[in-house]
Amino acid sequence: MKAIVIGAGIGGLGAAIRLAKEGYAVTVFEANNHVGGKMNNLQLGEWRFDMGPSVFTGPEYIRELFELCGEDFSIFQYKKLDESFTYFFPDGQHFSLPANEKDLIATFERELGEDPKVVRKYLKKSGENYKAIAPLFIETSLHRWKGLLNKKLLKALSRLPKYKLNSTMNEENTHTFSNPKTIQIFNRYATYNGSDPFKTPAMLNMIQHLEMNEGVYLPNKGMVNIAHTLKELAERQGVTFRFQEKVEKIHLDKNVVVGVQTEIGRYDAEVVLSNMDVAFTYEKLMPEADRPMKILNQEKSSSAMVFYWGIRKQFSELGVHNMIFSSDYTKEFKALFDDFTLQDDPSIYINITSKEIPSDAPIDGENWFVMINVTINKGQDWDAYRSTARKKVIEVINKTLNTSIEAYIEEEFVMDPVFIENTYSGKFGSIYGNSSNNTYAAFYRHPNFSKKIKGLYFAGVTVHPGGGIPLALNSAKIAIECLRQDKS
Ligand SMILES: Cc1cc2nc3c(=O)[nH]c(=O)nc-3n(C[C@H](O)[C@H](O)[C@H](O)COP(=O)(O)OP(=O)(O)OC[C@H]3O[C@@H](n4cnc5c(N)ncnc54)[C@H](O)[C@@H]3O)c2cc1C
Repeated sequence: MKAIVIGAGIGGLGAAIRLAKEGYAVTVFEANNHVGGKMNNLQLGEWRFDMGPSVFTGPEYIRELFELCGEDFSIFQYKKLDESFTYFFPDGQHFSLPANEKDLIATFERELGEDPKVVRKYLKKSGENYKAIAPLFIETSLHRWKGLLNKKLLKALSRLPKYKLNSTMNEENTHTFSNPKTIQIFNRYATYNGSDPFKTPAMLNMIQHLEMNEGVYLPNKGMVNIAHTLKELAERQGVTFRFQEKVEKIHLDKNVVVGVQTEIGRYDAEVVLSNMDVAFTYEKLMPEADRPMKILNQEKSSSAMVFYWGIRKQFSELGVHNMIFSSDYTKEFKALFDDFTLQDDPSIYINITSKEIPSDAPIDGENWFVMINVTINKGQDWDAYRSTARKKVIEVINKTLNTSIEAYIEEEFVMDPVFIENTYSGKFGSIYGNSSNNTYAAFYRHPNFSKKIKGLYFAGVTVHPGGGIPLALNSAKIAIECLRQDKS
């Protein structure tokens, strides 16, 4: 039996490994010349950058793939960071959040005056909600309730009032904490799946569980090593990769998948799994097929603009993950999701892997990944936005760090929504497909299988269960579980 995977992103890699373990002869077709999709590598002179994901949580989902293959996970080298994030506020206050619970809670009390009991209870609830919900919403298809373990379902349902389904993330955080800065810190997690904390349901206040309760990790050879490690694991299971071979069509015989057409030739297969953005899978690869329009027309998640700067200086006040907050978060999200314009005072995220991986920058330098969330591509003037955003970002960084950063930028590359759309085939340059900006968003994500086309499956952040590396890996697990059910 042959299986074809379209795209070598994280979801595609997870699916390829699992399909091989199911006994399929698997071929992965990737349009680009590299593995990992948005988890991409960039070398600018003496500086190396991870172009996409930078916050690594949930390494156990990678361990699971090694265990499935009966291989030793210790070949994948990574470390837990001592601090998750360093935060900077417009009034000059700044502090780092330690990884261990005791120091973390003490920092919220010392810096922001939060009651330790309140913070402890909030983090505990976030963890309990995650553990109750994960087996249902993150590790299982929401579109196939048959076979769901009743005990797990009952456990998740018994916590319904705790999910605060009728409140937003911001409402719950405002109700819980006294300091607006704490609220801003916890509201920030809505951006982890490209959503708006003023609209996203409070249930998603469990996103921070992985980062705050379990920890933030960094692979010893950078984020891109996750993709390389999974590719090598896949190859050891017999998976074949064909790079720079874009899939142009999914061939159907009535409503059954029979293979794909690439730029080079036709390939037959009983199973096709798409890791391409699900909207583009329908539009570009199966224009004649019925589309689930209600799902595909949902509001999209945000995009990003990233300045990759090779900096010839070291800044001791910065850590691996740094956030410089804007003064008006409400206005920032209004620009992102309502006005589709560039926010004039964006929060700025700076990731510096050379703090932990010295070879990523010269001895007197640092590799800065400077990101702002931006609205999706609706044909705005991105050249103008890039230049305005760059000026603003430099102005804020200079003020925050009391420096003249431009004088130290020796290398530069800029990524924007048009790049994301063109390079990774992400519709409108959105990073995570649909946003989670309404209570029922989880039910409006595309399932991991096609309801109408036999043999067609989906994995990646644009389908259930959504955004981030852990969820992309789970999407692959769910897709293959659905395939197994279909065969039985
Ligand atoms: C700037 C940025 C920052 C991010 N930060 C984080 C973070 O800190 N933590 C986190 O967990 N996640 C983060 N993400 C999201 C992250 O990218 C995802 O979690 C994960 O990498 C997405 O994987 P995916 O499986 O959806 O595939 P993608 O990465 O979207 O890959 C899809 C692949 O399919 C290929 N493809 C598309 N069409 C075709 C075709 N027709 N034929 C062949 N191949 C095709 C593409 O070339 C691509 O390689 C970030 C993303 C970006 C852009």
